[in-house]
Amino acid sequence: MSGSGAKKIGRIAIGSVLTECNQFGGLPIEIERFEQYEYRRGAAVLQTPGGPVAGMLGVLKEAGATAVPLVVAATGPGGPLTKACWARLRDELLADLKAALPVEGVLLALHGSAVAEGDGHVDVDVEGEILKAARAIVGPAIPIVATLDLHAHVTEAMVANADALIAWETYPHVDTLETGQRGARMLLAILRGECRPTMAMAKVPVLTSGVRGATIGDDPFADLMRHAKSLEGRDGVLSTSVFLVHPYLDMPDMGSGGLVITDGDMPKAVRLAEDLAVRYWARRKDLEPPTWTPAEAIARGLKVAGGPVLLVETADCNGGGAAGDSVATIKALVEANVAEPALAMVVDPEAARACHAAGVGAAVTLQVGHKLDPRWGKPTTLRGRVEKLSDGKFQYTGGVWGGTWSSMGPTALLACGAAGNVKVLVTTLGTYDWADEQFRSMGLDASTMKFVVAKNPMNYRFAYAGIAKEALILDTPGPTPATVKHFKYRHRVGPWFPADAEIPGLKPRVMRGRTP
Ligand SMILES: [Zn+2]
Repeated sequence: MSGSGAKKIGRIAIGSVLTECNQFGGLPIEIERFEQYEYRRGAAVLQTPGGPVAGMLGVLKEAGATAVPLVVAATGPGGPLTKACWARLRDELLADLKAALPVEGVLLALHGSAVAEGDGHVDVDVEGEILKAARAIVGPAIPIVATLDLHAHVTEAMVANADALIAWETYPHVDTLETGQRGARMLLAILRGECRPTMAMAKVPVLTSGVRGATIGDDPFADLMRHAKSLEGRDGVLSTSVFLVHPYLDMPDMGSGGLVITDGDMPKAVRLAEDLAVRYWARRKDLEPPTWTPAEAIARGLKVAGGPVLLVETADCNGGGAAGDSVATIKALVEANVAEPALAMVVDPEAARACHAAGVGAAVTLQVGHKLDPRWGKPTTLRGRVEKLSDGKFQYTGGVWGGTWSSMGPTALLACGAAGNVKVLVTTLGTYDWADEQFRSMGLDASTMKFVVAKNPMNYRFAYAGIAKEALILDTPGPTPATVKHFKYRHRVGPWFPADAEIPGLKPRVMRGRTP
């Protein structure tokens, strides 16, 4: 609104660094990864078509404010940013901010779980460093509002240097644009003197995967989110966020919990944030999914009438930064001698090349899997027949990539197992899993299968809704597992759930923000 009486808003700096890092797997993120996906500077920032930056830009435009562009960089998950990648992003973002001065406010669309290789023992807290450096540049009087993923690892540096932190409300994430709008509206309200955001974050050491973390239906995380959102907009509560910390980081003080922003009332912000953290702790056991070994899941699936039964191998989720080259479940399917049809996928450029060289119809014996990321298993011998070959191109039918084309690179369909009934899609490149587009591109229909291996923690629930007879969550080795109870964290210290089921005397750890 820019109606009469409203204070005229001037220059607002707007920038973004958005990616999620996995410190247990995934290839380090180079600057090229951002350039391939999204890397904008100058006027191009103002054309950002979607996501939080687009939401922020829309609100600023409506208010008649001038958006002053900083770097906008986004890419999919991977390992930590390399030193060089981080240095360039940071230096360009901060140089842009210095050049933008004077500004009335700063809007930053961040993730919260990005880390970078640094000089120290522990990796760099990317968002904390960005907010700290931005604060040093603009000084204490200029408001800084940042948006975060709800999987953020919220640190002291973030809470201490931002005036407001506002996270996505949905998982699967469908409100990134709206969250950008909420962030921009918060900044405008501060600048108009309508509120004095006062922020507290409280966390408990609960580290669980996203498997039970949807914000829809009766997932425990959905309950926590609904409760937090019921507090918003009344009794001086400006904003609430619930965080399920990305558990594949290894940073000090990792935890999940709640962040509350009140209008100038720190004791209330602390009390409500602590209450959210206590509620979070109370639901911890519901957030940890029951898991099966592949052999157990196959035995169980065989007792289910019909199919498909989904074998959910979340540990090898490409969209979470894993290589997609695990054969743990494929091996179990072959060893179980299942007579009914089964469908699975593995990334193995060498095996895909061998299939293409052998040609359709050829009998092959290949060592498959665990070559890109050998930390999680050994290749397995697959004997089979090359049934089909393709260039691997396919089109997403939904989700964040809906409508866009992607490629698995040269791909082969290998029929293995005793009766050739275990169909393995051997791909050259790892691809994000939305539904079953990769299978469909090879003429395969998941609904006719007894078993389908899905390598993601969440999307399978939508992709196979109404089709799957049952979904069994597997506990297999990999950098994105359904449970992190086996993980050995080096940097996060002290007891944590699920490694410790009970922690007597536990109190939420509270972080207080700036006091206006
Ligand atoms: Zn997320």
